[in-house]
Amino acid sequence: MAAQSKSTSGQDRAAVGAGASICGLPEQPPRQLDPELHPGRSAAIVDGDRKWVSGTTLRYYYFGADEFEWDRRRFRWGGGAAQQRVVEEAFAAWSAIGIGIDFEKVDRPSEAEIRIGFVHGDGSWSWLGRRILDEPTTARTMNFGWDLTGDLDTAIHEIGHTLGMPHEHQNPFSGIVWDEDAVYRELAKPPNSWSRDKTFHNILRKLPESSVSGSKWDPNSVMHYPFDAGLIQVPSKYRSQALVPAGGLSAADKRWAKQWYPTVGKRIRSLEPFRSEPVSLDEGEQTQFLVEPTATRRYRFRTFGPADTVLVLFEDVDGQWRFRSGDDDSGFDRNAEFDLKLFAGRRYRLHVRLYWAGDSGDFGVVMF
Ligand SMILES: [Zn+2]
Repeated sequence: MAAQSKSTSGQDRAAVGAGASICGLPEQPPRQLDPELHPGRSAAIVDGDRKWVSGTTLRYYYFGADEFEWDRRRFRWGGGAAQQRVVEEAFAAWSAIGIGIDFEKVDRPSEAEIRIGFVHGDGSWSWLGRRILDEPTTARTMNFGWDLTGDLDTAIHEIGHTLGMPHEHQNPFSGIVWDEDAVYRELAKPPNSWSRDKTFHNILRKLPESSVSGSKWDPNSVMHYPFDAGLIQVPSKYRSQALVPAGGLSAADKRWAKQWYPTVGKRIRSLEPFRSEPVSLDEGEQTQFLVEPTATRRYRFRTFGPADTVLVLFEDVDGQWRFRSGDDDSGFDRNAEFDLKLFAGRRYRLHVRLYWAGDSGDFGVVMF
């Protein structure tokens, strides 16, 4: 793939334990759900919680040279054109998979879901998936804490977090047994200088099984850190050799992206006022409906049935599908619903993603 030809080859990457600077995520505890919920329902919600609805355009903004307050000192948040070019290349690498998420650069932070800073010394990180929407529009949702030129993989990795991907070396199915003292010791050193909590959060802590897709470990994932020999006890070969991912997006990374973010086909069902449409989906799947109102007025959209869903309406604006409204009823005993004024002659698309179908497995959507 052309977009990856300039990627730093994984084999050249410095590993943890050999001076590498690595991504350090801010702590973001999983959503607290009612402990009375069916365990399968909770697991499905945790699995889908941070993912976007496929069909979403994520707009991104680069902070400029202006100064911004951070940590009671003043830092420049902007990076130069060379830094931005690497991030552009990373967005292109994700787009080249052929996923149902578009990325679009915008000139104002208030219009962007992804706001990118280049504060050196603040590490490289992103909030996970839809969690970025909780940040005020004056704040960064992603930072690059060191020079990115020659380090395309870090940019691809942080965008992976924005798409909802966790760290692969924390996969509970990896079978990794750490030399914990050695890991704490290495990460406490420069250039990372991490606290024990940060090292535990980003490396040693195994993720809940419900929060990872599939059951296989992928040591070549772009979401996996490189580790120098001796930090991993099991698999035992890594006592004497480094674990260095191949570089760029792995085959499993691409499968993950296509599974969560399928492209939207050209032929989609229509949704007409007062006519309910049955929906049958597996957990994590989504479908969409075309809405072409003939009258300008407020409409109500809702699901019916016991399913947990996220329901999102987009409008076709000059060929770009813009987010208009949405609702998420996961974990609650109510239905996803919202009101919105639609205009006759315009085109809209209603997307629904299923977390958990309840006992029947079927549910429906209606507009009126
Ligand atoms: Zn990371």
